[in-house]
Amino acid sequence: MDPRPEADDPGLPDICDLCHQAFPAGEGVYGRVRDSSWADPADPEHDGRRPITACGTAHLADLQQRYLHRPFVNEELWAAKIDRAQTQHPHLSQEQLAKETGLNLLQLEAAARWGATRRVRGADALDEPLRPPGE
Ligand SMILES: [Zn+2]
Repeated sequence: MDPRPEADDPGLPDICDLCHQAFPAGEGVYGRVRDSSWADPADPEHDGRRPITACGTAHLADLQQRYLHRPFVNEELWAAKIDRAQTQHPHLSQEQLAKETGLNLLQLEAAARWGATRRVRGADALDEPLRPPGE
């Protein structure tokens, strides 16, 4: 299990991702789960590995189980990387976007197609991600 991810404001309590109970920062249990909807705002090395916060080991285990059953879809991860790049650097060209995300043009197109499909139906972090077209 990872140590606590990048500290937020130390004055603020942490909130359990499962039961939403607040507790003093640093007193919960923390981990990361495989999640293709996560692009880490600070460290691309953690893309696809969402940090989770829980009030105790039981809720951490429950969260880990939920994410374990969530399919990992590459197009979703690429779309998350694109969203992050476009938020941090608006008005990127396709070439700049490819450089910024580390994706190739085919991956950018696949992510855009996936994202267009997703916006029509809507999706939440723990919802089932849509399968890319053609699978
Ligand atoms: Zn909890």
